[in-house]
Amino acid sequence: MAHAVHGRYIWDPAYRHAARTLTAISRLAEACDHDTVSNATRLINSRVTAIMQLPAVDLEERPRKHPGLCTQCGRCMLSTYPRSGRVACLGCGLKGQIMPGTVSDGCVQWEDGTIT
Ligand SMILES: [Zn+2]
Repeated sequence: MAHAVHGRYIWDPAYRHAARTLTAISRLAEACDHDTVSNATRLINSRVTAIMQLPAVDLEERPRKHPGLCTQCGRCMLSTYPRSGRVACLGCGLKGQIMPGTVSDGCVQWEDGTIT
């Protein structure tokens, strides 16, 4: 964002000045266009999610790749979150909830209403 606003990169080791850096990001976002802010938001969110998924932090569950096919798009891009019982397709964004079974292995209730 600094490049988009000032036309040059400003190198300053941000890890020493985290609070100042976050304040600068907020100020720079006001002067940037929507695409630049969306891109910066996506980058920051991915870093925050990665930190929250670290085993020492463990504030967010790491997804596990599932070998099954998605019921909506048919691609093999399913991820499961065993602790919370969620399942999601990274291809089409379909989400579902794993319903554990008492007699069978259980099923998945998808947000579009289908049960598999
Ligand atoms: Zn899908």
